[in-house]
Amino acid sequence: MVRGFFVACSMVRSREIMPKEMEQNVSNDPVVAIVGVTGAVGAEFIATMDRRGFRVGKLKALASARSSGKTVSFRGERVVIEELTEHSFDDVDITLFSAGGSISRKFAPIAVKAGAVVVDNSSAFRMDPSVPLVIPEINANRIRDHKGIIANPNCAAITALVPLWPIHQKNRIKRVIISTYQAASGAGAAAMDELVESTRANLNGQLYTPKVMPHPYAFNLFSHNTAIDPETGYNDEETKVIKETRKIFEDDRIAVGVTCVRVPVLRAHCEAVTFECEKPVSEDQVRSLLAVAPGVKIVDDRAKNYFPMPVDASGQDDVLVGRIRKDLSDPSGHSISMFVAADQLLKGAALNAVQIAELLPERVMA
Ligand code: NAP
Repeated sequence: MVRGFFVACSMVRSREIMPKEMEQNVSNDPVVAIVGVTGAVGAEFIATMDRRGFRVGKLKALASARSSGKTVSFRGERVVIEELTEHSFDDVDITLFSAGGSISRKFAPIAVKAGAVVVDNSSAFRMDPSVPLVIPEINANRIRDHKGIIANPNCAAITALVPLWPIHQKNRIKRVIISTYQAASGAGAAAMDELVESTRANLNGQLYTPKVMPHPYAFNLFSHNTAIDPETGYNDEETKVIKETRKIFEDDRIAVGVTCVRVPVLRAHCEAVTFECEKPVSEDQVRSLLAVAPGVKIVDDRAKNYFPMPVDASGQDDVLVGRIRKDLSDPSGHSISMFVAADQLLKGAALNAVQIAELLPERVMA
């Protein structure tokens, strides 16, 4: 899908003779658009592409009309933000979407029609059977099945599944129970601001009326701020983790129980994870598997009581895993409990999406 409009360098003799539309990309590298470039994830797309040396011929920075004309910095250059419109994708090869489900539903098909490959961070297409739902450490092979859109999974799902996968491959996990401790950053830049501002107001003895979150956030925690299904009692975040686990593991029988909670942490999600395997499983087996698992770092120092924490996970690519121990509520020896932490703006969003984009065959061809 990377099309013939890449300008072959050898054909271009000087900038003076280049047609105007070619001026910005004289390399064979793809034109990359970021939709939602001003958001919490958008900022991490830029930083992640930069530090991983992702080859970009030209960056197109897209956001709402509110941001039009402002600039973002990419590799030392100021890039002017444009308002997202139906014509934004005419010269684009790869588009990273991170502006919410309704924007993705409307504009991702337009981007695909214009010839771009879309990596979408929203939940809009995740459960569409024709859309691969990819964590590269688990199912990178699914990328080749895409028909224009590849979905990035939910951040709470990614955080649990990266370390569960190597175990599941050796000794099938029959059942997993997950309790999340989710940071403000998972709800976007405005939620992070609200946590800071409400904490400051609280410390100054001032009243603060929540604008983004449904409940007071400073010195409080609450059930995840997505809609609750009145019949099941599960919120949307929990339902996403259940469904996405089955799709990514390609295992409809895996039993998943989840409780998602928002905690007053600025960045990086934590999760308590207990899983039951088909065959007996020991702490040592789990430690050995995780010691060599891609995208996982063991942080498990019982002597120092040092385990995964959001402050350590923030800014890190790996999912930190610790408190690996036998689940004493299962005397059969089939169950293990552990505690994980991951920067959900990185592995839960921007990093995972850039990893997918790095593996696109279209990009290799470029
Ligand atoms: P955010 O900080 O609130 O940013 C939202 C972005 O969307 C901003 O760049 C905003 O641009 C843009 N936007 C809003 N309305 C728009 C419109 N009409 N047209 C074009 N752009 C528009 O949110 P976020 O945390 O980055 O999350 C964005 C998406 O990623 C959501 O779908 C979220 O579910 C998903 N996601 C987030 C995380 C996470 O950890 N935060 C993890 C996984 C997936 P303006 O600044 O111009 O308004």
